[in-house]
Amino acid sequence: MTEAVSYISTRGTAPALGFDDVLLSGLARDGGLYVPDAWPQLGTEVWDLPDDVAYAILAAEVLWPFVTGGSVSRDDLDGMCADAYATIRHPDVVPLVPLGDDGTWLLELFHGPTLAFKDLALQLVGRLFDHVLAARGERLTIVGATSGDTGSAAIEACRDRDSLDIVILHPAGRVSEVQRRQMTTVTSTNVHNVAVDGDFDDCQDLVKAMFNDIGFRDRLRLSAVNSINWARIVSQIVYYLAAARAFGGRGEPVAFAVPTGNFGNIFAAYAASRMGAPVDQLVIGSNSNDILHRFLQRGDMEMRQVVPTTSPSMDIQVSSNFERLLFELDERNGHLVAGQLSQFRATGAMSLHATAMNELRSLFDSARFDDAEVATCMKEVHEEHGILLDPHSAIAVAAARAVRLHPDVPMVVAATAHPAKFPDAVEAATGVRPALPEHLADLLGRPERLIALPNDLAAIESFVAGVSRVTT
Ligand SMILES: *Cc1c(COP(=O)(O)O)cnc(C)c1O
Repeated sequence: MTEAVSYISTRGTAPALGFDDVLLSGLARDGGLYVPDAWPQLGTEVWDLPDDVAYAILAAEVLWPFVTGGSVSRDDLDGMCADAYATIRHPDVVPLVPLGDDGTWLLELFHGPTLAFKDLALQLVGRLFDHVLAARGERLTIVGATSGDTGSAAIEACRDRDSLDIVILHPAGRVSEVQRRQMTTVTSTNVHNVAVDGDFDDCQDLVKAMFNDIGFRDRLRLSAVNSINWARIVSQIVYYLAAARAFGGRGEPVAFAVPTGNFGNIFAAYAASRMGAPVDQLVIGSNSNDILHRFLQRGDMEMRQVVPTTSPSMDIQVSSNFERLLFELDERNGHLVAGQLSQFRATGAMSLHATAMNELRSLFDSARFDDAEVATCMKEVHEEHGILLDPHSAIAVAAARAVRLHPDVPMVVAATAHPAKFPDAVEAATGVRPALPEHLADLLGRPERLIALPNDLAAIESFVAGVSRVTT
């Protein structure tokens, strides 16, 4: 029998929980993030699977120890993985494509419904939510704000789920047409798009205000599917293991370069290494919002204003999932983590002791690129290899080239978005306007469904209350 993983908080005081509760609660009650109490070690059940094993089968094998112990049976998990990864429109799910002949490979993570890597986690997470809620006879109302990119992945994850209703706020007229239509052309009756007469900050403030209205929050059972949810991280471990297996698996080193914002994606690569995957080097690619790069260079973390870039999904002030790595570097001392983070909140700066810094630098390297450098990388890769990269993926390619340690170790670069998701930046850099894949080719002709509302909490709350199927 597989032993069930139990989950503890990075801040050391919230009670340990099983998978079902960690899934539904997101953040721990002490403000920390949940992590496994010990890292399950990969064995023959993963390394000895046939080379051509289906991605869904590998996923169920990897995820089982993390998920078991609650309402999800092995059959349930197998079925959910099969359904989730059937939505990815590539036979290999996460194809590896060579970038030249120096051992650099693109791991294409953008063949899901919304053309970005978040689908690979969210397609499964939406099904897990639905399963666990159904087992409890409960429902949730998911609310969120988007500047364009994350809303569609959340909508695709929640659409048609019996236990979930989803309301996504976007700033009216300030989201690109493709991004808006990826949300508003979804016809499922449990999906609700609101165009708010305001900007993205207004939308975020409205969502925060709904969560802070405790009566409203409890009555409608508000929840979010945000990137600090452990279930999202754990689902992302699978594609790093798929790549490691492609290069020989156990004992054959491999390096990864990841365009990094909230640190969720690269933390999954770190988790794979803690589970025994032979990870030689992890490369953090940053845009001009380079808090992590500065931290690795100088050893102190300092918060700055966000500047908008051509890679908007990495435009962050702090990387919330870094807390999970901090917990490991602090030798799992939650009180130390809590102290460092309250110092960080109070002063906007944080530093680590030398042993922790050395450990961090023994596996991680980083590089940062401004928009002009990103455009140059997109242009060069197009000229040299005939491949169009989106700006996020280009940052990871540039970072891999800048700091790769061992030329004989395969360097796998996470390609996190399809170029057609960012057509203007790609066209400006390469002169080529990337076409949408076939399943979205008629996107611009599909009917849209959305409601326009004022920037007013009472109006938004009354809309949410009207569409939610939560009854208390
Ligand atoms: C979300 C996102 C990222 C950043 O991933 P994190 O897990 O937040 O580090 C990078 N690229 C794209 C295209 C994304 O959508």
